[in-house]
Amino acid sequence: MIRKFLSKVFSRKESAPESIAKLRVIRNKQHGIRASQIAPCALKITGNLQQAGYSAYIVGGAVRDLLLGLTPKDFDVATDATPEQVRQIFRRSRIIGRRFRLVHVMCGQETIEVSTFRGPSATADDNEEPIQLTDQHGRLLRDNVFGTQEEDAVRRDFTVNALFYDPVKEEILDYLNGFEDIKAKKLRIIGDAVQRYREDPVRMLRAVRLASKLGLQIDADTVKPIGDLAPLLQNVPPSRLFDEMLKLLLSGHALACVVELRARGLHHGLLPMLDVILEQPLGERFIKLALKNTDERIRQDKPVSPGFLFATLLWHEVLSNWNANQKSGEKTFPALFKAIDQILTLQHKKLAIPRRYDAVIQEIWSMQPRFEIRAGRRPFQLLTHPRFRAAYDFMLLRCESGELDAELGEWWKKFLAVDNVEREKMLSKLSAPKRKRRRRSKKAGSNPAPATTSSPSITG
Ligand code: ATP
Ligand code: MG
Repeated sequence: MIRKFLSKVFSRKESAPESIAKLRVIRNKQHGIRASQIAPCALKITGNLQQAGYSAYIVGGAVRDLLLGLTPKDFDVATDATPEQVRQIFRRSRIIGRRFRLVHVMCGQETIEVSTFRGPSATADDNEEPIQLTDQHGRLLRDNVFGTQEEDAVRRDFTVNALFYDPVKEEILDYLNGFEDIKAKKLRIIGDAVQRYREDPVRMLRAVRLASKLGLQIDADTVKPIGDLAPLLQNVPPSRLFDEMLKLLLSGHALACVVELRARGLHHGLLPMLDVILEQPLGERFIKLALKNTDERIRQDKPVSPGFLFATLLWHEVLSNWNANQKSGEKTFPALFKAIDQILTLQHKKLAIPRRYDAVIQEIWSMQPRFEIRAGRRPFQLLTHPRFRAAYDFMLLRCESGELDAELGEWWKKFLAVDNVEREKMLSKLSAPKRKRRRRSKKAGSNPAPATTSSPSITG
């Protein structure tokens, strides 16, 4: 069965290389991972499953990260127990997913994903008409066929992601030479690259993200087809692309990933607007700065708001619509609100940015012109806005990128640093000579900057 599957994976009429599916057991002395490095919750789950007579291993990213000397983000478990059998063992658990059914087991505050070994997704018998599991481009639509551990290794994406660690025996099972690849810092796809990308085009994005994040070099055969197959990303459901994009942007290596995506032609169809943005000199600098800041925050373990990040990625689109709306006669604020609506509506469709981020994005954007009104009580009012900090950071990025005068950013930095007496002085210094003129123009109705925006107000 496994041979048959492998010959399908290694489609180009050549048989699977000998190293494939040749099990190598790597003992503790060689790999150096200790059970104490595994999250207690994952240890408990593998232990309980094994006691119940099933096999159970830590799999995927966690084993890979530990071997690379990194701290895993999460610990996934793979087992030969079916989701229903897993569910019976753990009271606090539930079966999730449709395309890929797995069990979420809760212990304490943690949730561990437990998946049953998956097998080949085509029918085993070559004489049978294959059931419709792929779309016309070869993309897998279902991946719910259970299989053996070897089959489970082979259906994974990269060799470094296909290692099984048994925390009880403290040994690693390696069917695909993943251990050697990790040592050589190589990211190698399992099987025929073209076929594996056709099955799931997101693997191309994963290759770029994992290589940047882990400092691995993508193997030549693995990288070669990416440019040609990039358009297949257009067939991937937008919500899945969004999830992958978010992982990429929050990987701590967003800038390197975006540069690499561009080099490989992968941003077309992924972030359709990134094309346009990266070609604008101001926009490119702005996005680079934003990504660099995000990467630094993540590496320092500081929180990062996806809403803020998406606000930066789309800002220059908003800016260009804002300018266009003003040119066609709209006033500052209505022109901006209209631009915000236009860009968000477009991005809901194209990028599938979930609506839960809208409020933050809208607030950050719509507060921007308020930083330029340094008169009366306005700056004080702005300080009390619950989203002030994010909007302020955003404004500083605009200054740093050269879009706004650096003086504005410096003024605000100082305004924040001093006490209220000093703030009053700063304001009177700025507005005293201009006040008369402003008043008059206000009467004429040319500066009706609203104190509040039309966006919904959120706290926290
Ligand atoms: P990260 O550190 O970002 O979590 P990861 O490799 O653990 O990286 P997950 O999305 O958590 O990524 O996936 C867990 C495991 O599932 C992977 O290590 C890999 O074995 C397998 N996997 C994930 N996505 C795919 C895919 N598109 N095709 C095949 N196998 C996949
Ligand atoms: Mg993971």
